Amino acid sequence: MSKYDYDLFTIGAGSGGTRASRMAANYGARVAVAEEYRVGGTCVIRGCVPKKLFVYASQFSEAFEDAAGFGWQVPKPTFSWGALVANKDKEIARLNGLYIKGLKSAGADIIQDRAVLTDAHTVHLVNQNRDVTAETILIATGAWPAMPEIPGIEHAITSNEAFHLDALPRRIAVVGGGYIAVEFAGIFNGLGVETALLYRGPEILRGFDDDIRAMLHAEIAKKGVDVRTECNVTAIEKKPDGTLALTLGKDGAMEVDAIMYATGRAPNTQNLGLDAAGIKTGPKGEVVVDAYSRTNVDNIYAVGDVTDRVNLTPVAIREGIAFAETVFNHNPRAVDHSLIPTAVFSQPEIGTVGLTEAQARERGDGIDIYKTAFRPMIATLSGRDEKMLMKLIVDAKTDKVLGAHMLGHGAGELAQTVGIALQMGATKAQFDATIAIHPTAAEELVTLREKYTPPAKAAE
Ligand code: FAD
Ligand code: NDP
Repeated sequence: MSKYDYDLFTIGAGSGGTRASRMAANYGARVAVAEEYRVGGTCVIRGCVPKKLFVYASQFSEAFEDAAGFGWQVPKPTFSWGALVANKDKEIARLNGLYIKGLKSAGADIIQDRAVLTDAHTVHLVNQNRDVTAETILIATGAWPAMPEIPGIEHAITSNEAFHLDALPRRIAVVGGGYIAVEFAGIFNGLGVETALLYRGPEILRGFDDDIRAMLHAEIAKKGVDVRTECNVTAIEKKPDGTLALTLGKDGAMEVDAIMYATGRAPNTQNLGLDAAGIKTGPKGEVVVDAYSRTNVDNIYAVGDVTDRVNLTPVAIREGIAFAETVFNHNPRAVDHSLIPTAVFSQPEIGTVGLTEAQARERGDGIDIYKTAFRPMIATLSGRDEKMLMKLIVDAKTDKVLGAHMLGHGAGELAQTVGIALQMGATKAQFDATIAIHPTAAEELVTLREKYTPPAKAAE
């Protein structure tokens, strides 16, 4: 019999912690998992799931408009924010119940409390004011919105609050140029809010392929989002009528009714007792782990956003699975973070896998670029001014497809299947040998024959 209360104590019942705990319990471990908010974590409660439901909601405004070209007469639709929030909350409650059930039926104990480490084998439950010991501890505490410290920042909301606003604002400024900023700019704009996207750098979505970045910028601007680059909010002032006056450096000023910050997320490691347990952290406060998600303390592991590797739900889940296999099934497994398909649920949507053109060029080996921008078929009758983009980056020597980047309807769905091809090491010749499906947008991926040659530079 072990001298500890549990074989595994997991801190945080989000994507990574839940999966790891369920699997460990299924392998026979005595498992407890502590959650200070709601089981399911960020993705289920205030991330991927409610966000995608809001994206769907916001797409109807264009769908009603586009229907006219197909012969439909839609009476002026009305929208109820209250109904959307209530329906979304009902769905989140259902999923929360399923996550609780999943843990319980695997035999894990759920402890509704905040847990902090007091040494390498002990956690303190803050509200219950008691200690619990475990042979292995898994830190899966996720991340939290980070905001710059500027005057008036207390008037800003983050994605956490955006899911529960009492009413939709008439005007909103979204600050940031990453996943959350572009997704929420699309949500608010689609729901009829006058939306500005304020980004500090030269182009939104740093790290994505440059063609995708430029085209998303152009497309969301066409939809009416006021996209401002090289734009910094230096102060926020709340006026007596509730209006927020923003000071914008070179861009002067702007008045809005709400401002949402989507300026990155910081690992949830503050006041977690990491020092007491002797756990090393990195510059952003992230828990430093090896390929098996093990910290510098032998019996303590960490998975998901708290390790700040690739902050996506399927990655946290994979890390959780690999941890449970390694520690509780004698099957050491490391997660390969090198080829991760991802989607941005902006409007239009982005799907991407593999190297960007810039990353591929940096390797120094020759590459070929194949790309096409075109009007999607639905736009012929809807009359909407919109474009799609498909781009392949190919190794000139081996013919291997190194990267695929897509923007437009269904791009996220597409990235999942293209990801399989890239995972298998598919060559451009194998893409070309695949028979097209007509009429689809995806057929462009197997019919791209012309190498892209950049326009010649004008003579000096
Ligand atoms: P989390 O899911 O954050 O879980 C951590 C849990 O730990 C939380 O429930 C927290 O309450 C709990 N906790 C923290 N500290 C303690 C403590 N001391 N004691 C007890 N409990 C504690 N990813 C995608 O792949 N696709 C998407 O579309 C997507 N959309 C997103 C949209 C938004 C708005 C946000 C914010 C994120 C989105 N993500 C998306 C990212 C995704 O949500 C995260 O990568 C994922 O949830 C990370 O899982 P995790 O297990 O590491 O942490
Ligand atoms: P990101 O890191 O993606 O983007 C943060 C943005 O904020 C960047 O544009 C960054 O600019 C900017 N920024 C950072 N600090 C400041 C500052 N002090 N002032 C002004 N701007 C600033 O973070 P998000 O918050 O958008 O999302 C967190 C993570 O969650 C994502 O990276 C992703 O891993 C995950 N996620 C995934 C989704 C999906 O899969 N669809 C959806 C939502 C989130 P710069 O580029 O110049 O650094």
